[in-house]
Amino acid sequence: MDDIFSIDKTYIANTYARFPVEIVSGKGSLAWSPEGKRYIDMGSGIGVTAFGYADDAWQQAVIAQLGKVQHTSNLYYTEPCALLARELCLRSGMKKVFFGNSGAEANECAIKAARKYAAEKKGPEYHTIVTLVNSFHGRTLTTLAATGQEHYHELFQPLTPGFAYAEAEDIEGLKKLALETKAAAVMLECIQGEGGVRSLSEGFLRAVGEFCRAEDVLLIVDEVQTGNGRTGKLYAYMNFGLQPDIVSTAKGLGGGLPLGACLLGEKVQDVFAPGDHGSTFGGNPVCCAGALSVIRRLDEAFLAEVRRKGELVRGALLGAPGVEAVSGLGLMVGVKTAMSAAEAVKACMEKGVLFLTAKDRVRMLPALNIPDELLLEAVGVLKEVCSEG
Ligand SMILES: *Cc1c(COP(=O)(O)O)cnc(C)c1O
Repeated sequence: MDDIFSIDKTYIANTYARFPVEIVSGKGSLAWSPEGKRYIDMGSGIGVTAFGYADDAWQQAVIAQLGKVQHTSNLYYTEPCALLARELCLRSGMKKVFFGNSGAEANECAIKAARKYAAEKKGPEYHTIVTLVNSFHGRTLTTLAATGQEHYHELFQPLTPGFAYAEAEDIEGLKKLALETKAAAVMLECIQGEGGVRSLSEGFLRAVGEFCRAEDVLLIVDEVQTGNGRTGKLYAYMNFGLQPDIVSTAKGLGGGLPLGACLLGEKVQDVFAPGDHGSTFGGNPVCCAGALSVIRRLDEAFLAEVRRKGELVRGALLGAPGVEAVSGLGLMVGVKTAMSAAEAVKACMEKGVLFLTAKDRVRMLPALNIPDELLLEAVGVLKEVCSEG
């Protein structure tokens, strides 16, 4: 048999530091290696497989659509795309949706919408997007520019101009920066995911929302990681009483197929005209059929379960030996461990549990329907590792 690790290392671009694990099959929150080693997957493909591997309802929805039409381009109407857009708007209060294929593309659309709105309403000099230090918004040259972490920027200059970075929790600094730079929008994650599962305070978020409304600066909330039930609400901003003008999302939306969405609120619902923006694959009917199956199941009872499971995890970890802090909301959890997060993740992997890291933390983004037994088994392994470390 060919050695997949060495073929991959030879032919795949050197952008990923993969773990020495090959996954050949999965069901729910369990995954298996070619040798039949069982893993509990606490990362769900970085928050993507919202209902785990090979979820029955999701699979049926996707397969049914595959048997009808797999792609038509955006020149024609398809039912899954229209129904998903309606579902997202009715559930969020947003007005219109643009579909792309990834989080970065959803953010690109958000930035274009904000710039056009501000250019038309206030003038083209109102184009700056204020983002936060330690944020993460994607890997395209524009969303890298939006990402407030310098180490991602090095060696890729020049990035798209027109971004400025404010410190989280410093509302006066943010206001000053937004006014000085004639900002079109403020863009933020309610919980900085890649930045280490760092929650922003409700006070700060509300103050940003009030400032944006008062100054007619658009508020863009990046829900790529926090969205689609992850925090125990449909979107994380709903935990904080915020009303964004634009919401971008992706990761868990398609349940494992590539789908991003930019939700446009009242102010910007009509900002685009035909030709302003587009995507060949965007709104693919198979991806949208999968997403409909995900979003329709995220009702209040299900979301309450996500919150309960999040509390279960927190309860099990808080005060455990070697656990220094627990952050996040719902099933988006960051754990500050006494030992290095990378070491903890490696040790857990050897014991059959796949966790993620984010900065100096162990990160969990399990499938939203993970059974309590698996969740507690996985957390138990982390506790064991932490207590030994
Ligand atoms: C993952 C992520 C992105 C980028 O999404 P891609 O699908 O990888 O382009 C953007 N913003 C946030 C908050 C993310 O977590």
